[in-house]
Amino acid sequence: MGVIKPITAVFREALRSPATLEYPENREAVTDNYRGVHKLDMKTCISCAACARICPNQTIEMVDTETNMGTKKMPQINLERCLFCALCEEVCPTECLVLTKDYDFERFDRREYIKRPEDLK
Ligand code: SF4
Ligand code: SF4
Repeated sequence: MGVIKPITAVFREALRSPATLEYPENREAVTDNYRGVHKLDMKTCISCAACARICPNQTIEMVDTETNMGTKKMPQINLERCLFCALCEEVCPTECLVLTKDYDFERFDRREYIKRPEDLK
């Protein structure tokens, strides 16, 4: 009599659908206001450095970048330092720097958190 209750509980749990998703094959939709990894349109960046100046955590460094128009300074972002506050997006005069909904950027090697302009696609 004492074992019926736990056995019933085991069967009930076994039949219940999983509480978690099979990541990364299945992903939960993020909210509309979610802020993830940055995306940079290198063609419209005017190298003004407003994003780097406004960043509250010194996350952005303007680095030399090869483009069709020669070498230009463009934002490199250290995601390890980023607060995802979106001030850089707000201040960008050409709207070439935006935060996407991409949250899949965990890395084993912390050096990979530094994203050069070419990586911000
Ligand atoms: S989201 Fe905020 S913390 Fe991150 S790079 Fe932009 S301004 Fe800096
Ligand atoms: S990303 Fe925007 S704010 Fe940053 S340097 Fe380029 S144009 Fe200026």
